[in-house]
Amino acid sequence: MNKTSIKRELNSAWYELGHQRYKTCAVCGKGPVSIHHIVPKSHQLTAYDPDNQLPLCTPHHQTDKILSAHGNPAVFRSWMKEWLPDKYEYLIENEHRTAHSLPLSWYQEKLEYLKEQLKCQTT
Ligand SMILES: [Zn+2]
Repeated sequence: MNKTSIKRELNSAWYELGHQRYKTCAVCGKGPVSIHHIVPKSHQLTAYDPDNQLPLCTPHHQTDKILSAHGNPAVFRSWMKEWLPDKYEYLIENEHRTAHSLPLSWYQEKLEYLKEQLKCQTT
């Protein structure tokens, strides 16, 4: 398996796990949710980390003018700092970590980990 196809598999496993774990929005408690990357998805080191998941309804993910992760990132950041300090800390610790190139084995390990997590959730 090459990096492109393993990334694709990792991506779908990450979302699948998120949807298994979470049914309600972290802000308002309503569903359905999409799974938000706390540290942006482009950061490879955390892109497939289950700790990087935050379930949000469509308004709080994308469209709400006042409080939405993508619609108003600065306010959303302050909101996280106050209401989800663990998630905020995760963001602060990881948002500036970068990796230029990760070996295929790194991706394989992540995929195995996510598959294990998925099994734990279903059984
Ligand atoms: Zn919401």
